[in-house]
Amino acid sequence: MSNRKAELETLKADLIARLERYEAHQQRKGGALDKDSEEQASQIQNDEVVDSLEEETRVELAQIKVALERINQGKGEECEVCGKPIDPRRLQVLPYTTVCVDCAKG
Ligand SMILES: [Zn+2]
Repeated sequence: MSNRKAELETLKADLIARLERYEAHQQRKGGALDKDSEEQASQIQNDEVVDSLEEETRVELAQIKVALERINQGKGEECEVCGKPIDPRRLQVLPYTTVCVDCAKG
């Protein structure tokens, strides 16, 4: 249980660092578009990839915050939807999950 919390804290720090890198990348793109059009096209494509990675990272980070919040409330091992205990093996594989396998399917 405290292992899971430590794991989530590590993941959270990791995701925040990643978001900072994505943001730094997006800020740099403004001045970089004065090259030939082929390079410009690949630059734009790259930016789109970074945009979607950034979005994914934000969603993941939000999920981790919810999971940590529930752990702090002593409900980290309870399903957020039905209130039943979440299978410990599931928590081991998906430490940031807040729902049991049945509710995740539905
Ligand atoms: Zn459930």
